[in-house]
Amino acid sequence: MNKNLDQLNFNNRFGQLPEAFYTRLQATPLDNPKLVAVSQKAADLLDLELNDTCKEQLIQVSGGLNVLEGSDPLAMIYSGHQFGSYNPQLGDGRGLLLGEVTNSKGESWDLHLKGAGATPYSRFGDGRAVLRSCIREYLASEALFHLGIPTTRALSIITSDTPVYRETEERGSTLLRLAKTHIRFGHFEYFCYTKQHDALKNLADFTIQNYFSELLDQDNKYSLFFKSVVEKTAHMIALWQANGFAHGVMNTDNMSILGETFDYGPYGFQDDFDWHYICNHSDHSGRYAFSQQPDIGYWNCGRLAQVLVPLIDDVTALQKTLDTYPTLYSAKYLSLMSEKLGLREEEAEDSELIKDLLQLLHEQHVDYTLFFRALCDYLPGQESPELTALCNEPDSLKSWLERYDERIRRNLEPDLQRQQRMKQINPKYILRNYLAQNAIEKAEKGDYHEIEQLMTVLQSPYDEHPDLEHYAQRPPEWGKKLEVSCSS
Ligand code: AMP
Ligand code: MG
Repeated sequence: MNKNLDQLNFNNRFGQLPEAFYTRLQATPLDNPKLVAVSQKAADLLDLELNDTCKEQLIQVSGGLNVLEGSDPLAMIYSGHQFGSYNPQLGDGRGLLLGEVTNSKGESWDLHLKGAGATPYSRFGDGRAVLRSCIREYLASEALFHLGIPTTRALSIITSDTPVYRETEERGSTLLRLAKTHIRFGHFEYFCYTKQHDALKNLADFTIQNYFSELLDQDNKYSLFFKSVVEKTAHMIALWQANGFAHGVMNTDNMSILGETFDYGPYGFQDDFDWHYICNHSDHSGRYAFSQQPDIGYWNCGRLAQVLVPLIDDVTALQKTLDTYPTLYSAKYLSLMSEKLGLREEEAEDSELIKDLLQLLHEQHVDYTLFFRALCDYLPGQESPELTALCNEPDSLKSWLERYDERIRRNLEPDLQRQQRMKQINPKYILRNYLAQNAIEKAEKGDYHEIEQLMTVLQSPYDEHPDLEHYAQRPPEWGKKLEVSCSS
């Protein structure tokens, strides 16, 4: 099916909920909008053919100059815990749910316009997004998707001549985001804390009916819904940890009910491995440091459990479900890390082997992605100049490799087969901060080609790209000191 944007099939379910859930309003137009980037892979999800007409429609809709037939824009209301403290009213302060589109496979996709202008939930903000933050979300959502990490997607970016003021004057820009849903933990928190228990039940029923329909006929569907959210969240965070990804702002309003990576801000991927990596420069206490993410996932699920209490009689069972999180997380993380190391058949000492390797990478400031990729080519008992070059204490590497040799010999698998398996899980290319920064700096000068190029490697991160090898390099000195904060 090759559609233009005005041929999308809207079926807006969220907009059928009562008005306590949102405010209907249109996007505020931007001045002279122009297209920066559009992803063919994301367009495929909507059966869009990216011809000139379709692109022009994207510009019009994303710039707030046109509303598609069938679209019914609204700003959602929610609240959430931000850096540990409850904020009673958040909501879409700068985004609008344009509607829900059903594609030719019968899948439903939320169309969300980020940077659409002020809403009743904007508080002190201007309702706008800047080009750099749209590019960062665009690149990251496609990068995570192709690493197999559940995430929202990004269709396109436009920029404009409308000035937006942050530390300096920037350009008002928007991102068209696709997601299965925009329902967050914070939606449930809002209706519980405002004591609207009927609306809370309505929200839970709506969520189950549309996104957890396998639970519809179960007696204890709310408990099972919570169980599923806990599982999905633990799974997502294990994938973040294994891929060296730090989200940066794990507030409960940024937690998707479907366990998808959501609301990209000052995120970062590990370069030189650092357990305590803090990617968000506004996070002074390190609440959302890399090493804290698994515990924060648990804490956030705890906030969700708390607000489901009005719907669930058996609070002890709810607590028990919550307490499965650490085990679920650890099992998934161990299995991912074992795969990264090419280990087969779990053995009791595997977690020790993994932990000691991470400690070595941390102490010697070894590049996380390059190390694992180089390990794919390692042959037991042989010298590996590549691995040695990445570490500054060859002796400790050598003794770890001796243990590793013994372990993979017990795999009873040809080396080539193990190496091939490992190259399917250890990416060569990740979205290093400095790469995103290069793409942003060029785009701010009107050159959008770098975004496209970078996207090529991010969309097939496990493959070799001989002409684009430079995207696999460690950051230059300036690229290690980049500061990314909540301002966007
Ligand atoms: P975020 O840090 O992007 O997850 O945003 C947290 C809250 O602040 C959400 O309610 C956003 O809608 C709101 N927000 C962020 N930036 C702006 C802005 N420029 N104008 C209005 N609201 C904003
Ligand atoms: Mg947010």
